[in-house]
Amino acid sequence: MPDDSLAATFEARLDKLAALAVRVGLNLRPGQELVMTAPVEALPLVRRIATHAYQAGATLVTPLIGDDEVALARYRHAAPEAFDTAPGWLFQGMAEAFRGGAARLAVVGESPTLLAQQDPEKVARANRARSIAYRPALELITSFAINWNLVPAATPGWAKEVFPGLPEAEAVARLWDAIFAACRVDVADPVAEWAAHNARLHARTTYLNDKDFLELRYRGPGTDLVIGLADGHLWAGGAEPAKNGIVCNPNIPTEEVFTTPHRLRVDGTVRSTKPLAYQGTLIEDIRVTFAEGRIVEANAAKGAEVLRKVLETDEGAARLGEVALVPHSSPISASGLLFRNTLFDENAASHIALGQAYTTCLRDSAGVPMERLAERGANASLIHIDWMIGSGALDIDGVTKDGAVEPLMRGGEFVGV
Ligand code: ZN
Ligand code: ZN
Repeated sequence: MPDDSLAATFEARLDKLAALAVRVGLNLRPGQELVMTAPVEALPLVRRIATHAYQAGATLVTPLIGDDEVALARYRHAAPEAFDTAPGWLFQGMAEAFRGGAARLAVVGESPTLLAQQDPEKVARANRARSIAYRPALELITSFAINWNLVPAATPGWAKEVFPGLPEAEAVARLWDAIFAACRVDVADPVAEWAAHNARLHARTTYLNDKDFLELRYRGPGTDLVIGLADGHLWAGGAEPAKNGIVCNPNIPTEEVFTTPHRLRVDGTVRSTKPLAYQGTLIEDIRVTFAEGRIVEANAAKGAEVLRKVLETDEGAARLGEVALVPHSSPISASGLLFRNTLFDENAASHIALGQAYTTCLRDSAGVPMERLAERGANASLIHIDWMIGSGALDIDGVTKDGAVEPLMRGGEFVGV
């Protein structure tokens, strides 16, 4: 970009995003370590995040840099028996760092179709091995033991998927524009903007927690679904206190309020409204049927084989671990773009997630063993995969414990909150 003023503008916006990740996303405290993962193309953002982290009092920032070409090289050249290997030593080390007080930041920008041409069997085995190895660290994240944050970065591989047909540099620039808009960076004071945004999300969680609905009923094109909510479920959204006491925003951007469904009380049919980008494969037009909480029939127009392999990961993989509500008018939905990245697309639409439940979305869950939480409806699995079922044509009712049916969303928008 030869124009200095434009370059300065981009640099200023990138710096605002980095500051937002550290100050709002992580709310990094003096004396904390920071463990950060990022794609190699995101280094300019990573360096700015490191600067803001040290200015906030970080003792040590440890970046772990990934590369799509290195990931592909494995599929092209590694021996067939290599795909059950995962770096358990790395994830155990991460878990140790988290237990010692470190915060976790992931810069996301992977190409959504990176592994689409690879053998689904190898992809599934590699994913499974990674899920098992990652578990000690992931549990500390999903149980919200530590402050953590996901923040996006535009990479050529991702940008080409969002803006096919545009020259690479232009696609990357357009994706950065979309990222800055979705992350509410393009305002004078993004930190103040996020305080107001968090207040709106908390008004919704307060309303839903006061209602304490027994179940939600969904109706839309291809969807006729009842989702029972876990006993003592708790709605969350926006900034929340982690168990280490630090109030953080795990996702930037975020538009959702979410809770724990009952793993045995989901019945009916549901159709996805956006493609699901899963570990390098796009799964499109998912249609599934639930009976007593379990998916008994699964179809997809594209990627059905990968979807079915995912559902076979373990007993909990075919059951729900999350239900989330997002207004159809969210800025990400309004952009009209399909980002092909869950961090964005899940915030464009109401969604559900297969697999592991966030046990923090249950009242009085601290220190309670998973078997007891399972009795209340919390699902356990190696996976947690969000997929989008919301649209401007979705209606949702809440059913109270005394059987009253109340409108909750109409045409994809909240009613009364
Ligand atoms: Zn979600
Ligand atoms: Zn989720």
